[in-house]
Amino acid sequence: MHSGIPVTARFLPAPENNGYTFVRTDLPGKPSIPGSLDAIVEHELARRTTLARGDAKVHTIEHMLSAAFALGIDNMTIEMDGPEAPFLDGSALPFANLLTSAGIAEQDTESTPIAITRPMAFTSGSAEISVVPDEQFRVSFFYTSDEPLLRNQSASYVIEPDAYLREIAPARTFCFFHEIEALRRAGLIRGGNLSSAVVIGRKAVVNSSLRFADEPVRHKILDFIGDVALLGRPLAGHFLAWRSGHQVHAAFGKFLKKELGL
Ligand SMILES: [Zn+2]
Repeated sequence: MHSGIPVTARFLPAPENNGYTFVRTDLPGKPSIPGSLDAIVEHELARRTTLARGDAKVHTIEHMLSAAFALGIDNMTIEMDGPEAPFLDGSALPFANLLTSAGIAEQDTESTPIAITRPMAFTSGSAEISVVPDEQFRVSFFYTSDEPLLRNQSASYVIEPDAYLREIAPARTFCFFHEIEALRRAGLIRGGNLSSAVVIGRKAVVNSSLRFADEPVRHKILDFIGDVALLGRPLAGHFLAWRSGHQVHAAFGKFLKKELGL
């Protein structure tokens, strides 16, 4: 999407308590990068999530992690022979389908969710993420914008594999037509084309029809899941996010770790 560099990704089983690990197979020594909040590159969080260890980086990993996390995969190695994850159609559905068709193995160690036991709120600029206790992992997202076609969208889902595959995974990345020139000038979207995102103009969706009337806010939920996946454990709680993006999700993850003493 952003680098325009061709890449192949392979998803491999990993031992219990391993979490997610990325391996850059194209670099000398095949360095690994942990799929954890500590590996986030803070200044590279505009429009995508980037992880690094030393000089080795992996970009735009949020959609593949969203699929893995929502399907209940705790341990996985992801090999990539390039710096940026495949973007495909801009959704998580190709990853989710691939992982589902490969099969998900049960491991012996019981995975214990991070349970939210009291209400907490985190704010950053005009964004806010609140969390309240819930036995399940539920995400509610409130998206607001000045764009005439979007205005306000909200959606709320319990995140479990069936609902995720049906309602969230197909929701594609979106961008606004008037942003495209600026993104190009910033050196982004070099590999982007009209089949890799929903492009929204002032009066109409430019390049395709929407998969859901509220596809944009569903994609925001997809991104949120991919970013909190970096907490490294399943979640039990109701997360309510207002106007947040990757930057706020990363800061919220760190806030949550601190509040819960993780
Ligand atoms: Zn996304």
